[in-house]
Amino acid sequence: MDLLVVGSGFFGLTIAERAADAGRKVTVIERRPHIGGNAYSEADPETGIEVHRYGAHLFHTSNATVWEYVNRFTTFTNYVHKVYTNHESVVYPMPVNLGTINQFFQAAYSPDEARALIKEQAGEYDVKTAQNFEEKGIALVGRPLFEAFFRDYTAKQWQTDPHKLSGDIVSRLPVRYNYDNRYFSDTWEGLPIDGYTAWLERMADHPNIDVKLDVDFFDESQPLNRKALVGQVPIVYTGPVDRYFDYAEGELSWRTLDFEREVLNIGDFQGTPVMNYPDMDVPFTRIHEFKHFHPERKDVYPDDKTVIMREFSRFAEKTDEPYYPVNTPADREGLLAYRELQKGEKDVHFGGRLGTYQYLDMHMAIGSALTMWNNTLA
Ligand code: UDP
Repeated sequence: MDLLVVGSGFFGLTIAERAADAGRKVTVIERRPHIGGNAYSEADPETGIEVHRYGAHLFHTSNATVWEYVNRFTTFTNYVHKVYTNHESVVYPMPVNLGTINQFFQAAYSPDEARALIKEQAGEYDVKTAQNFEEKGIALVGRPLFEAFFRDYTAKQWQTDPHKLSGDIVSRLPVRYNYDNRYFSDTWEGLPIDGYTAWLERMADHPNIDVKLDVDFFDESQPLNRKALVGQVPIVYTGPVDRYFDYAEGELSWRTLDFEREVLNIGDFQGTPVMNYPDMDVPFTRIHEFKHFHPERKDVYPDDKTVIMREFSRFAEKTDEPYYPVNTPADREGLLAYRELQKGEKDVHFGGRLGTYQYLDMHMAIGSALTMWNNTLA
């Protein structure tokens, strides 16, 4: 073995694939019984509809290197992500665009009129000087829209004082003064034509890659463990950074998700892939309806059944799958302490959403793995 990769999500598999292509013998260990981390998807047993088990994953990027790289393993459909949001039993397009604004205010504002209105409703807040989620959100869409579409959704999603959340979280979403309601603004977008798992399996399908499932790096009763291998072989670690150091600098806070999956005996539940629920009287944040991610499969998917999944968010315990770094000021201090500890670890490279405690999208994880490979490991 020339390289051990801990974790088989997009970061780990990209490193493994590049290393294998360069002639290195790579072992990938994965604690779960399947590869792919939270991007893993599977056919629902009753309907055959592809379900993203850990929540909807939508691929998009403006990075030409990443786009070229991912196309080696899969082609993409022409799916374009659009989201709607159900506020007080009225459905609006998300992200906030001129359609949302005009529907909310029952008006017919022009782009310039809408800009002037939102600026007035943003009051003292300005996008350039906003210090946190709340200030940035109000600066971007004004107080009434913030309160309708962001305040309570964010309270459910993060359960954290919005003054302690980064403004970067809200600026993931564009605000548009036209009727374009695409969720993402990237150059390339689509879903893997034969599913995420087929794509992930092709990345791992190389004679130099050995994937071992159900293997926990911290379990010293099996040979591929931290104690036995650190310093013996180069390691790329993509698990939670605080876990690696046995929480020596305290626990970083993570959000995890719970999903309630349901098969319904109707052809179409909500007419769209994702409906957000931004109000407090509904406990979940959104409902996914998976058949709508692949309209091109309509002849193979049943027309009298559909699979939906309600998404609930909560703080992760140590035994839960971490999904989102909360990244409060206290977390950022903890992260700096962990970065100091990392310097003492010989030939251990931390990567991915969990290993760097960064809110990375799939294309960002792949891009940063390519950079780590080219700059450090190759
Ligand atoms: N958000 C919101 N209302 C929405 C959608 C998003 O308040 O209808 C906020 C929320 O805080 C969320 C953040 O914007 O965590 C980023 O949204 P995104 O859809 O990018 O989150 P993800 O899909 O990664 O969970």
